[in-house]
Amino acid sequence: MANSKYEYVRNFERDEILLPNTWIVVRIDGRGFHKLSSYYGFRKPNDPRALRLMNRAATHVVLAIPEITIAYGVSDEYSFVLQRDTTLFDRRKDKIVTTVVSSFTAAYVFEWNECFPQEAATGSQAEGTTLNTEMLPTFDGRAVCYPSWENLRDYLSWRQVDCHINNLYNTTFWALVQQGGMTQTAAEEHLKGTVSSDKNEILWSRFGVNYNNEPEMYRKGSVVFREYALEDEASTGKDGKEGMAADDPGVGTATSDPISKRQADKIRKARRKAKVVTEHIDIIRDEFWVQRPWLRS
Ligand code: ATP
Ligand code: ATP
Ligand code: MG
Ligand code: MG
Ligand code: MG
Ligand code: MG
Ligand code: MG
Repeated sequence: MANSKYEYVRNFERDEILLPNTWIVVRIDGRGFHKLSSYYGFRKPNDPRALRLMNRAATHVVLAIPEITIAYGVSDEYSFVLQRDTTLFDRRKDKIVTTVVSSFTAAYVFEWNECFPQEAATGSQAEGTTLNTEMLPTFDGRAVCYPSWENLRDYLSWRQVDCHINNLYNTTFWALVQQGGMTQTAAEEHLKGTVSSDKNEILWSRFGVNYNNEPEMYRKGSVVFREYALEDEASTGKDGKEGMAADDPGVGTATSDPISKRQADKIRKARRKAKVVTEHIDIIRDEFWVQRPWLRS
């Protein structure tokens, strides 16, 4: 390419390279979704259509970027975990964050009509859930590096605990408003200083709601990951010394990385063929991770 006298301006560009050998987590969050959700009439406290839309957009991102091992979503946010050894975009922070955010946003907008089925055209101005340029969904994003397996697990646990705390609060708050006839201010006042057991009690005694029977998608959030039948082979040790048994001392701890090079190669190949699934399960306890050693790379 020809050089021009202007080219020196490139020297002003600065790339931030994310720390090697760490798990990169990109978290995206909807901008002003408090407002957006009321604009489009999301049902409170949880509109399942909006949550499914988030999950579809996240699935698209996971499929488009195979280096992502797992994603966790709640409300208007999603966290994407990249393999510790990823060299995606030479680990350039801007490239990674902006690519994840814009891929997510594009898919979110693309899938909108699928998740919010539009009423048959009536000739009049469409209302309600029709996407409108006055209120287009946008997302922000950030990347954080976690240097140990324990840090990464704690990060994901933090998000899932947050989901639980917020959802219990919101479920009680909206029960007081929608079924209890309270104003939002009164409900907020009523819940001040209450602990979890108080909220469970309010739900049960006043509204006959057993919180534990609320849908798992609301209580636990959504986990998007590649699922394939590797665990049997690994845990039965068919693969000889390379098999990783569920009781391998490295599993679920922060102390070592028990994945051998050959197993890592196998995982890389399988990852491309694996099915991407969405589940609403506990990722705080070890069980989820012990059953899926490939999510540890
Ligand atoms: P910011 O731009 O700072 O993120 P925000 O308004 O998006 O501001 P958040 O803390 O991200 O604030 O909260 C997102 C809000 O979006 C929730 O409080 C909730 O009101 C709404 N929301 C998100 N998803 C849903 C859903 N599935 N159903 C109902 N409401 C939702
Ligand atoms: P990267 O992901 O690294 O940016 P890239 O393929 O997008 O890779 P660019 O250097 O950004 O590479 O170049 C963009 C390319 O997109 C151009 O080389 C050209 O081939 C194509 N392109 C962009 N806009 C147009 C257009 N309006 N008409 C035809 N081709 C276009
Ligand atoms: Mg925010
Ligand atoms: Mg938000
Ligand atoms: Mg949020
Ligand atoms: Mg380009
Ligand atoms: Mg270009």
